[in-house]
Formats: sequence, structure tokens, C-alpha cells
Amino acid sequence: MLTINPVRSRPVLASLERLIGPQRADRLRRAAAEIQDRLHGGTLWHVNSTPTGGGVAEMLRTLLPLYDELGVRSRWAVVSGDDAFFRITKRLGVALYGSDGDGGPLGPAEREAYLRALKPAADRLVQKVDSRDVVILHDHQTAGLVPSLAGRVASVHWRCHVGVDEPTDAAERGWDFLTELLDEVDSLIFSVADHVPARLRDRTVLIQPPFISPFDAKNVDLPADTVRACLAQCGLDPAGAPARSPLLLETAAGDVRLQSTPSVISDGGHQLGEPLITQVSRWDRLKDMAGVLTAVTDHVPVGHLALVGPDPAAIADDVEQGFWYADCLDHWRKLSPAQRRRVSLICLPMADPTENALLVNAVQRASDVVVQKSLAEGFGLTVSEAMWKSRVVVGSAVGGIRAQITDGVDGFLLTDPADLRGLGQIVAAVLSDATDRQEIGERAHRRVRDDFLPDREVTTTASMLASERM
Ligand code: UDP
Repeated sequence: MLTINPVRSRPVLASLERLIGPQRADRLRRAAAEIQDRLHGGTLWHVNSTPTGGGVAEMLRTLLPLYDELGVRSRWAVVSGDDAFFRITKRLGVALYGSDGDGGPLGPAEREAYLRALKPAADRLVQKVDSRDVVILHDHQTAGLVPSLAGRVASVHWRCHVGVDEPTDAAERGWDFLTELLDEVDSLIFSVADHVPARLRDRTVLIQPPFISPFDAKNVDLPADTVRACLAQCGLDPAGAPARSPLLLETAAGDVRLQSTPSVISDGGHQLGEPLITQVSRWDRLKDMAGVLTAVTDHVPVGHLALVGPDPAAIADDVEQGFWYADCLDHWRKLSPAQRRRVSLICLPMADPTENALLVNAVQRASDVVVQKSLAEGFGLTVSEAMWKSRVVVGSAVGGIRAQITDGVDGFLLTDPADLRGLGQIVAAVLSDATDRQEIGERAHRRVRDDFLPDREVTTTASMLASERM
């Protein structure tokens, strides 16, 4: 099926313009005018497979209201399917990240089932679009819409947020599944140049890194007592526990009611003043939460580790999250009692995206070091989010993270993502030097301001559409 996701947000354009300065603001407005011009009164569509959770949904939640303010008509459509559809798309996603996953096939029968599941969404979308519209489809869940849309709209673009640094047989199987579906797209958009597979390099390709929104509840500045209340809600720093619940918190992104209780596994919890190490991620093999747990408990002598992810029971489009959460919990149970006290597993409620975002914001902000130990990554939004908060991020040197962090300057890269001792050593060194932490954190913030804010998305989209006309 297909649903239109209505997005509401406060105006952000004026604040964004203040942040990026007059020259960039001018470029942004010109870019929006070019996109409008190209649409001739039509609509710019973004299509993905989930309204909340994950990087694409995060970006669209910011982008659509911004387009609105800039006078560009845009809409966000979400496709959904049955369990079989999401099983196939999960397998496909894992393959595009270079792994065999459940080892199941991705042959003609799976492609047929995938296209059959997408058909109602394709039919509905075809009824909604017109010939002036431009459609940007996100990731493998939506690639099957291309054949229905091609020729019916002004242009169709497919944006890939995943990929591998080195080709693998599994990734090639993923591309075997997708390539034919992409025959008729006007252009392909990747986050990372290295992720463009050899077979698509002669096509029109745009490299467009994702961005974060500084005005979203995920990233706005928070007063210290708001951070404390959110931490307490997550079972961290219990001394800051709120007096009552639900708690209404005022933030620059609006008032947020803290009313859902995260499900927290901990054995004593984080104590006031104890260094906080976190990783915020989906529960996914490629995020390697269990690896972070082992690296910290075995190789970092101080500090409390918070592993934070969505409540797996609330995620419809990613059926494996429950499995990887259980795997992490199993690792936690096997720790010694003293080690167990140093780790909290936190599953955040997903019902209210703003509340979820605020909790992520507070935990990132309160962290002394943020880890992103991905085994593969398109572009780690969590990395830029934490850098924006002037945190020191230690990320694996994979995928887009290599472009997001300049090693030793505005964060640290872990050359071999499997190196648990190496990760522990970097984290311990960061925790031991507060001055260095502050300087690196400041450079991290500037880096995100310069390169990863939403105006970049609008200007690169305008260039993409302009080059199409030639
Ligand atoms: N995220 C969230 N709640 C969670 C876990 C993650 O809102 O419990 C957000 C996170 O802050 C980031 C996005 O989900 O904005 C994840 O994007 P990223 O690019 O890091 O990874 P992806 O999940 O897309 O692979």
C-alpha cells in the first residue's frame, strides 16, 4: 500500500539562513527557484518505506517542511508491504551491504513476490502523479516502482543510501536483483562515490551526502535540566530523576511530553559524574552493538556504556531488529556482575517521533564519547548528529563515515572495524583528555555546519535537475 505522510513542523528557514550566512542562504533560495521552475507547478515526490526510524525518514521529516517554506511543492509517500516483502527487502539490503544474511535466494521468484507486493503502491502512486512531477525513490524497497513511473512523470531518480566499499558476491547478487528495475531512471543518487557499483558507473550518477536538521527535536540545543530529565527517563543518571511523569519539556523545537517509558536493561545504571559512552543505532548486525559492548567492557577501564536503539517490537519494516537486540542482551547477560553494571541496553519508544528524537538528543548530548562501530555504512546520520553536538565520535572507517570524520581532527576513525582492542584504546584515550575532547568537539560542530546541513540537499537537487535539461 501507499500512504502520504503528512509532515508538520515549525518554520525553520529563517533560522537556517542565520546559521549558514547570507551567501549560502542566497544560493539556497536560487536553488529552490530553479527547482520550482523545473516543476512547472508540479510536485517533487520523495518515496520511502517507513515514516519513522532510520536515516531516510529523519531527513524527509526536515526536508519536506523546508521545501514548503521555500515554495517548492513536495510530498512524501510511504510504501508498505506484507511480511514477505520486508523479508525480501531486508535480505536485499543486507546483500547490498555485502553480506549473505539469512543466505536465502534473491532470484526470479523473490523478484516476482517483491513486485507483486509493491503493485498496489505503484498503482496508487501512478494515479497521484502527473507529467510535471519529479520523483525521488529511496533505497531498494522502492526501486520496483521505477517501471510504473517512467514515462508518466517528468523524471524519476533512485537514491541509494547503502553500499559496500569493496564489491562482494553478495552485493553483486543484490545488484543483479535491482539493476534491471533501474534501467529507466533518469539518474542515480549515491551518498558515497565508492558505493556506485561498476555496472552503473556509466549511468548519470550524483553524489549527494545526507544532512541533519539542527532545528529538529533530535538536534536542538537543550537546557541541562531537560537533558537530565531525559537521561533519567532512560534509566541513566538516576539522581536526575524527574519528580513526576508525564513531564512537559520546553525545547526550541516545541514542547515535548515525556510520557512513554523506554525499556531499559541495566544492573545499577549510570551514576552521576561517571563518563558516558554511547552508541545510538538500530539493532542490526552491521551496527555491531554487541561488539561495542565487548570492546568497552574488556578494553575501557572507566565509564558507563549506553547502547540505545528503537524498541524492536515497534519496527514494521525491519523484522531482524528483535533478533539482534536479543543477541545483544545475551552478550550482556554473559558479562560478569561488575561488567554488567557498566552497561545499559535502552530501547526507545517509537510511538511519538518527537519524544524519541528528544531522548536521542539528550543521550548524545550527555555523552563524553559517541561510538559508531558500523561494519558497513552508507552515511551515518548518528555520526553527524553527535558531531553537531560537539561530541567526539569514534567511528569505523567504512562507507560515508570516512568522509564525515577527519581522523584526529574532528573525530577518530577506527581503521579495522573488527578491532575491539583498538576501539577500546581510542575511547579510553578520548576519556582521559578533556581539553582535547573539547577542541575536537568544536571542530566536529563546525564540520557539520559547513558540509552537512539541509541547504546542501536543496542546492545539489537543483543542480541535478538542471543538468537533466541539457
Ligand atoms: N534513531 C532514532 N532512534 C533510535 C535509533 C536511531 O531516532 O532509537 C535515528 C538516529 O538518530 C539517526 C537514524 O535513526 O537519525 C539512523 O540513521 P543512520 O544513518 O545513522 O543509520 P541507518 O539506520 O539509516 O542505517
